[in-house]
Parts: sequence; C-alpha cells; structure tokens
Amino acid sequence: MAAPENKLAFDDGWQYSPAPESTGHIKIDKRYELFIGGKFVAPEKGKYFDTINPATEERLSRVADASALDVDKAVKAARKAYGPWSRLKAAERGKYIYRIARIMQERSREFAVIESLDGGKPIRESRDVDIPLATAHFFYYAGWADKLEYAFPGRKVKPLGVAGQVIPWNFPMLMASWKIAPALACGNTVVLKPAETTPLTAMKLAEAIADAGLPPGVVNIVTGAGDTGAAVVTHPDVDKVAFTGSTSVGRVIQKALAGTNKKYTLELGGKAANIVFADAAIDQAVEGIVTGIFFNQGHVCCAGSRLLVQESVADEVVQKLKDRMETLIVGDPLDKNTDIGAINSASQLKTIEAYLAVGQEEGGTMYQSSCAVPDKGYWCRPTIFTDVSQSNRVVQEEIFGPVLAIQTFRTFDEAVSKANNTPYGLSGGIWTDKGAKIFKMTQSIRAGVVWANTFNKFDPASPFGGYKESGVGREGGLHGLGAYLKLEA
Ligand code: NAP
Ligand code: MG
Repeated sequence: MAAPENKLAFDDGWQYSPAPESTGHIKIDKRYELFIGGKFVAPEKGKYFDTINPATEERLSRVADASALDVDKAVKAARKAYGPWSRLKAAERGKYIYRIARIMQERSREFAVIESLDGGKPIRESRDVDIPLATAHFFYYAGWADKLEYAFPGRKVKPLGVAGQVIPWNFPMLMASWKIAPALACGNTVVLKPAETTPLTAMKLAEAIADAGLPPGVVNIVTGAGDTGAAVVTHPDVDKVAFTGSTSVGRVIQKALAGTNKKYTLELGGKAANIVFADAAIDQAVEGIVTGIFFNQGHVCCAGSRLLVQESVADEVVQKLKDRMETLIVGDPLDKNTDIGAINSASQLKTIEAYLAVGQEEGGTMYQSSCAVPDKGYWCRPTIFTDVSQSNRVVQEEIFGPVLAIQTFRTFDEAVSKANNTPYGLSGGIWTDKGAKIFKMTQSIRAGVVWANTFNKFDPASPFGGYKESGVGREGGLHGLGAYLKLEA
C-alpha cells in the first residue's frame, strides 16, 4: 500500500515534504499574524519575515514583523484587559491556566514537531523535554493562582500590571511558558516577543490560548526581531520586563530601564563548570558530560560548557568521552535516533566556527567526532578542546554550541577557583561519590543552580537564575511568583 500523501503545501506553490511517519498531520500555515487583543491581526506596516528550517534551509512560513505601532497596540490591549483580569476571582484565573495546559498536552506531538522543524532540536528532546516541561509550568502555576497568600504569608499580594517579555531561540516554547504562566497566575497581563528564528510554537501557543477562551488582551504575542523586543521593553506603559537572552542585550536593556519604575528580571548567559572528581562513577560522569554540553546542540544557557576533571582520571575520562562522542548521531532533527540536531541559524553557526578557530589559535587542541553531517543545513560536530588555560576565550566566553573546553585540577580548592573564574554564574555540576564534597562544592560555586551527579535537570518548582553577569532575579518556583507581584506588608 502506498504511504499516505503528507505535504505541507503553500499557496505560492512551495511545498515542504517531510517524512510521513515523523510529521503526521502537522499543519504549518503559510503566514502567521500577530496575536493582539484575542485576534490574529496583520502588522500595521504589512511586513513579514521568513522563518526557516535550519536543517534544510527551507522556508517553513512567513511571520509578521511587528513595529513599534503594533507593540503599542498590544500594550494597549494588555492594559485594557488588566483591570478585569486582575480582579477576576483567583480560582477562575487558575482554571484558564489549567485549560491552556490541557490544550498544550493534547497538542503536544504537533508542538514538538514544529519546535524541531523551526529550531533544529532533536525530536527526542522537544517531545520528551521541552513540550512536557513547558506544559508542566502551566499546570504548576495554575495551582498557585488561588494560593498566593499562602505563598507569601503575612504579606498583601498584588499583580504588577502589564508584563513585557522577550525570549530567546534555544527553548522557544519552554521560555514562553516560563514567562507567561507565572505572570497570569499572579494576575498580570502579557506582551510576549518570541525570537526571530523560532516564532512558530509561540504562534501555536497563541492558538491554544485563544482556544482556551482566555479573555482578549490578557496574552498578546508580537513576533519580530531585536527592534520589536526593544519596543516592548522600553514601552512606557509596561510595568515589568522579563528578558531571557544574551548578556550583551541584557546590558542594553538594563541601561534603558535605569531610572524607570519598571521591575525587571534578566536571565542571561552562562559558562558552567562540570566538575568530575576521581572518586566519581566515571561512566555516569561521562554521560553527564555529554548531556551537559551536547543537549540541544549546546544552545543552553546553563550548559556544562567547561569540564574540570581531576588530574588522576583525566586521561581516562577524556578517552571515554571521545569514544562516546563517536557514537553520537548528528543529523535530521525529526529522526528519533538523532542525538545532535541542526545549529539554530547560519549566524549562530558562524559564531561557533569563529570560536573553533580562536580556540586553535590560542593553542588549544581541538578534537571533533568523525560523524557525517548532511550537505544542506547548519551543522557542527561535537567538539572538545584540551590544552586550554583559564584565560583562553573558549574557557571564558559563552560559545552556545556543542563545544566543550576541558581543564584539569588537582585539589578541591583549585576546582572551586577555576569554576568561579569567569564573568558568569548561572549553573554548575559536580560528580563524586562523597556527599560531604557535594555540599561543600554547592556552597563554594557561585551559581544559581548546581547539579550533583546529574546535569540539565529542570522542574517548574525549582528556581532558576544567575549571579554576576548571568542575570538579575529568579524565575521558576515560588521565587518566580515573587517576580510578578508587589509584596506589601
Ligand atoms: P539575544 O540575542 O540576546 O536575544 C534574545 C531576545 O531578545 C530575542 O528575542 C531578540 O530578538 C531580542 N532582542 C535583541 N535585541 C534586543 C534589544 N535591544 N532589546 C530587546 N530585545 C532584544 O539572545 P539569543 O541569541 O536569542 O539567545 C541566546 C542567549 O540567551 C544566550 O546568551 C543564553 O545564555 C541566553 N539564555 C539565558 C537563559 C537563562 O535563563 N539565563 C535561558 C536561555 C537562554 P531577535 O530574535 O531579533 O534576536
Ligand atoms: Mg526557524
């Protein structure tokens, strides 16, 4: 029997023809409008941009490019909705958020496929991590909506108003959920700006929000590029800014907000140390190193992008890591066997390749796995650098790709001092069989999260955020609620 026809057809004749078994009946529209005041509306200036599939370089859809005029419309819609939404009985607010969560759950397969198509991440990750975790954030914060007084005993809790939220491309649906769910639970309304290269799942989320019957204007989604983001965060009628992205843009935003009354949280870059002691279960640690740096192509703010390994086991760990890297499959994000998908964009690939050159110029020894990569699309083989020193740029700077810098240490104190010696402080990891060492290390590393004998594990109940240049404020858990509330005595 012939396989069923399964093509995503566009009016202008262009067709996307994915493997039938991997995409099923996923529908991607030819064009996406802005989601403002509960409706899908065309941008004022009539401009659209392409979003492409980084694994094929083919266009997936065209997406509205919001100007400052559209952002203003969205903020006005959010302001209008704010009064009734913030006065709504909290349990009713919770019901809406639960409804969004359930729709996300029902459509999770579709969302996962589109996330992988638009951003390049392996379907195994979008299916098993991104979308379930995004949905879990809506469920988690729905539960808090009518319990805010219990969350902050003895304090009066009030929403802040209109939240302007800007998110990056590495975890599009998850970042949207981190931002929208707590804002709504606390009674705020939202204007969200997705990243330019990954707008599609945010528009799918807009559909879910519309289907949930959320009152018009409570959530508005304006797609666009950096200028759109700047218009959101600097809009005078935005009360709270939540930004996740690079430290350089975070700095620009912090300057723009200085002297205003806007409350803000900034979730920025990282350069985490994953520290392996000689007494660790070495095979498990090697798996943790692989997860730490190669998960999501290393496009992870909290990636374990530096390995600090105790000298006596360094040769063994590096050899086992190289052997394991040889088994990693780089390629089609929609193939369930793929370990490392496509680099998110041509410009990110250029950045990564520039670092590969810099690392070698600085004297590092580069090793890449020998796997084949497709001809079309943006790819980077899993890469490690040895013979690097603390001052090297590949040790100090966030590469945001599948590139690991490896250093050794002899003593506990040397590991701590190397781990803390970057401008960042977002995350860290420790591998050892000694509980006392774990507790001492988690207190010594200046980072928002430190994983022990695991890496890149997330839960909506646990707070997340950085020290130093990794950011300001916390998201997730109870802390994440506090960032969307005025807490009065
Ligand atoms: P980015 O370049 O800073 O962009 C983030 C978002 O801000 C995008 O939507 C971007 O729009 C927008 N933007 C750009 N310029 C802006 C401006 N002047 N004002 C307001 N918004 C502006 O970061 P990215 O490359 O998308 O993401 C990677 C970075 O995010 C990494 O550094 C990573 O560590 C960080 N990150 C941090 C966390 C965390 O929780 N700490 C989580 C995930 C990612 P465009 O789409 O047009 O660029
Ligand atoms: Mg894309």
